[in-house]
Amino acid sequence: MPRILLVEDNEMNLDMLSRRLERRQFEVLIAMDGAQGVEMTRQHRPDLILMDMSLPIMDGWEATRRIKGDPALAHIPIIALTAHAIAGDRERCLAAGCNEYESKPVKFPRLLTKIEQMLGIESSGDATE
Ligand code: MN
Repeated sequence: MPRILLVEDNEMNLDMLSRRLERRQFEVLIAMDGAQGVEMTRQHRPDLILMDMSLPIMDGWEATRRIKGDPALAHIPIIALTAHAIAGDRERCLAAGCNEYESKPVKFPRLLTKIEQMLGIESSGDATE
């Protein structure tokens, strides 16, 4: 069962995403700030990280740089989740080390496709539920 670390401080998003991912047979770990995200990445070595960029204590940009700066963790794919719809934001996410980018509000089927692609797993088909 692939393990996904969800780093998100918004409880509604956290709830929605973790529920839908668990229904897709992912093991979901949760961190609610960037520092905890880095710590849990070290401890639990998830297969993939969904990283909100706007986080308390340490933002997603810095958390991503720390994870990608650690040779033991750098291989873990990170998908940035950001509400910033500004031009150049995607490039900024990629420059910080994120492997992919998804803008909020999250469209779950599209996010799931990206997750499956990055994990190299076969599509589970209809993702509306
Ligand atoms: Mn946030």
